[in-house]
Amino acid sequence: MRRSDTLIPTLREDPLEAEAPSHKLMLRAGLIRRLSGGLYTFLPLGVRSLLRVINIVRTEMNQAGAIEVLMPALQPKDIWERSGRFDVMGPTMFKVNDRQGRTLVLGPTHEEVITDLVSREINSYRQLPKTIFQIQTKFRDEIRPRFGLMRAKEFIMKDAYSFDADWDAAGQSYEAMYQAYTRIFDRCGLQPTVVEADTGAMGGSSSHEFMIMADTGEDGIVECAGCGYAANLERAERKAPAGITFDNSERTPEEISTPNLRTVEEVATFLESPPERLVKTLIYVADEKPIAVLIPGDRELSETRLTHALGVSTLEMADDETIRRVTNAPTGFAGPVGLEIDVYADAGLEGYRGAITGGNRADTHLVNVDLARDAAVTTYANIVVAQDGDTCPRCDDVLRAKRGIEVGHLFKLGTKYSETFNAGYLDDQGKEQMLVMGCYGIGVTRTLQAVVEFSHDDNGIIWPGSIAPYAAAMLVLDPDDEAVARVASEIEDALAANGIELLVDDRDERPGIKFKDADLGGFPVRIVVSKRSIGQQSVEIKLRTEDKPIMVPVEDASAHLLGLLQA
Ligand code: ATP
Ligand code: MG
Repeated sequence: MRRSDTLIPTLREDPLEAEAPSHKLMLRAGLIRRLSGGLYTFLPLGVRSLLRVINIVRTEMNQAGAIEVLMPALQPKDIWERSGRFDVMGPTMFKVNDRQGRTLVLGPTHEEVITDLVSREINSYRQLPKTIFQIQTKFRDEIRPRFGLMRAKEFIMKDAYSFDADWDAAGQSYEAMYQAYTRIFDRCGLQPTVVEADTGAMGGSSSHEFMIMADTGEDGIVECAGCGYAANLERAERKAPAGITFDNSERTPEEISTPNLRTVEEVATFLESPPERLVKTLIYVADEKPIAVLIPGDRELSETRLTHALGVSTLEMADDETIRRVTNAPTGFAGPVGLEIDVYADAGLEGYRGAITGGNRADTHLVNVDLARDAAVTTYANIVVAQDGDTCPRCDDVLRAKRGIEVGHLFKLGTKYSETFNAGYLDDQGKEQMLVMGCYGIGVTRTLQAVVEFSHDDNGIIWPGSIAPYAAAMLVLDPDDEAVARVASEIEDALAANGIELLVDDRDERPGIKFKDADLGGFPVRIVVSKRSIGQQSVEIKLRTEDKPIMVPVEDASAHLLGLLQA
């Protein structure tokens, strides 16, 4: 392909709209263009790489025994009402009306559609197991679309759904997808960290996320250098330290006046005390019942961990009125002493003595609180968000906080959707059973950009050979010179005969610009044919990953390149 025949608009400067390095580079190298927030056009180079990622995903899914379908993006509202997710998805789901005034949704995911299909088409154990996938456009009205393809309103996902006779078989389907994911990301040149992820109300370690480590990653994770334990921050556990004794004396709680001081920081500063000496008391409503939740003043509550610890299905912060009713005080002064509701405390608070808490009275705090003696804690559990420097729950080594880009997600669903859509089958005894499901997503467009985030330098993208839009760029520096033009087209033809298409930069541009654009575009191999190289009976060949080119005799050039590009 001649560069002048296609459309590769490169940019010298970083576009203002972009923050993440990969987003800047995708725009600068001419792979994508923004239509509006979270909506992007793929230009020719972007399409070529995207198709290669899709091809890898499709090949590996087929290899793992999954079968491909294509479901509608536009879906009737009633299947979402049936699963109860019309409300759960809320404003994230795009809705449209047809001419009859019926509401349809633009699918953010496809559990409902696939389970509805399978409930009709699969009914015997003889048809199992089945893993069904598609590669298709999804729509999500994200609160904050950003970083280009990373968090878009419209994006391409590979979504797969497994249907099995029982949990054991479902475990095998899950494992097959896990292995396929490992191969897919490896073939894309990525080195993912697999983390345990939140499983919603189901518990267990049956959800994994494939993360690409990057400073711009939107997901926080902790990883243990010792044993490799890695988990999404939402779910991550830390080994709680033994409760601290701040004051050994036997003094009893004493009220102190803290006018208008509500936050941990304000009170800690006022009392000249370290923030961890304060016990933060949060009032929540769990399954419609108000509860108090205690955490050390310097930590953050993990609502996910708390939800699991309580085993409830709804959890929300109490409003000011509820807080006043259960604590007799305005918001900001709640404390555990004398409360008549259930009190759940972080495990790190067990044995806390000499602590400071809210006083359940306006403008009042308590000092000298011994939690075991003065407060009726119902249960201690691990409910704070893990952080850098915490102790690993598995091996006592240190946890390190990192940031990651979630490129893939595996999830054991169980029978949640099969029950809703009555997706059952007859077992070999003729007995009706529910199908056990799993679901598996890969953000295809996000993965493409994650490769750029993971693999670039100051000069541009560094594509792995597997998904480069062109394996090589050939810069023809003096296109009007007959010998130059001849050698260039001989090389182009020889490679084309072997199925390798080059991007030939035949533009009437200064050499400097062609070199810069070749680096920016990240093509694995750069070939330069110029009057100067022909004068030396050679062409210049350079790998994107190396600094220095080599000169290869004209007559050996095609064979040399084939050796490089077919490797
Ligand atoms: P996130 O936590 O990043 O919002 P998610 O957990 O909601 O993602 P899933 O429902 O698990 O996403 O979707 C499967 C995959 O689709 C994700 O692992 C991710 O790679 C991709 N994905 C999700 N949302 C987007 C988006 N807005 N833009 C691009 N890719 C996305
Ligand atoms: Mg996810």
